[in-house]
Parts: sequence; C-alpha cells; structure tokens
Amino acid sequence: MSATDTLRECHRLRKHLKALQEEIDRGPRVLKAQQARLAQEQQAHKDHFETITKLKLKQRDDEGTLKQTETRLAKLEAQLLGISVPKEYEAKKSEIRQAEEKKAALEDAILATMAELEEKTAAVPAVDKKWAAAQAEFAQSQEDAKARLERLRADQEESRAALAKAEATLPDKNKSTYDHLSKALGPDAFAAVKDRICQGCRTGITQQRVMEVQGGMFLLCSSCGKMLYPAE
Ligand SMILES: [Zn+2]
Repeated sequence: MSATDTLRECHRLRKHLKALQEEIDRGPRVLKAQQARLAQEQQAHKDHFETITKLKLKQRDDEGTLKQTETRLAKLEAQLLGISVPKEYEAKKSEIRQAEEKKAALEDAILATMAELEEKTAAVPAVDKKWAAAQAEFAQSQEDAKARLERLRADQEESRAALAKAEATLPDKNKSTYDHLSKALGPDAFAAVKDRICQGCRTGITQQRVMEVQGGMFLLCSSCGKMLYPAE
C-alpha cells in the first residue's frame, strides 16, 4: 500500500470511527426519550383509573345529597299544609322551589356522571391494551438498542485495529506530522484531491503537486494544511 492509499484508508476509517462514536453517544439520549414516553403512558393509564375512582366518589356524594334533599323537600311540603298565613306560605313555597331546583340539578349531575362512568369503564380494555403495548414496545426497543450497541462496539474494535494497522505502514518521516494533525483534527486532517481541487478547502492545486500526490508523496494542502491523497 502506498502512503497515499494509506491516507485514503486512514481518512475513511477515522470518518467511520467518528460516526460510530456519534451513534454510540446518541444511545443514552434515545433511551431517555423512550423512558419519558413510557412514563407518559404509565401516567395516562393511572389517570384513567383515578378518574373512574373520582367519578364513583362524586356519584356517591351526589346520591347522598339527593336523598337529603328529597327528605327535606318532603318535610317542607308537609309543613306547607299547616300554614295559613299567606306571607309564611309564600316563604315556604320559595324554600320548596329552591329545594326542587337543587334536586333537579343533582339528578342531572348524577345522570351525567353515570354516562361518563359508563364511557370510562367501557374504555378500560383499550386503555389497558395501550399501556401493555407501550411496555412491550419499550422492552423491544431496549433489546434492539442492546444489539445495536454490541454491533457498533464490534465495528469500533475492528475499525480501530484496521486503523492502527494502516497507520503502522506510514513512513517514519511522516509519522509525527500525521500524528499531530490527526490528533488535532480527526477526520478533518485529511483531504482528497479531485480534478486538481483540494476537497478539504476547494482550492486549486498545481499540476505538479497533483502529480506528486498521485506519485505517493506525503503532501499537505498549501491552503488548508490537510494531508492530501488522490481521490479514487
Ligand atoms: Zn485544502
């Protein structure tokens, strides 16, 4: 392998290693988002049953109040029979009207709660199913992530070994420049030369230098300082 072929290979491997690392680094963020989604589903599931419990309590309270109102109404109506003073009679009548209004409002509320309870209860199987699906999806995504991470790590190991092997073939006289640049810039330390243009900075290169690069010479772009190799 010539020095320029080595540079091309090193560039490819370093770009690949960088992409691998980025994908590995994304893992925890993806996991966090998935955990947040799962927590949201769990809350929605819990909320549904809490709503049912609250509606049942409200129903019990309203039914109790309705019974009290009915008892009071019967008492008021009985009292009305014994009143002969018109002013007192009107006052009692007004009390009865208020109690009747309260009774009607409670009956409406009880019916509305009943309808809501029926609806929420009927939705329980679907709500349970959605929560189970969310848990299954989360478990599957964890398995997928584990397999993906193993694959990425294996690729990383292989690519690191290949990079070390390629770098070991670089001429000793270029080694320190290579180490310095690749350490500082990573994959950005390299640039292909294509159609007499440095692909790193888009600057034109003299024919003489293009020929030198093609001939396997270790050259840096005079404009951007990247290590040059001929494009395939
Ligand atoms: Zn350049």
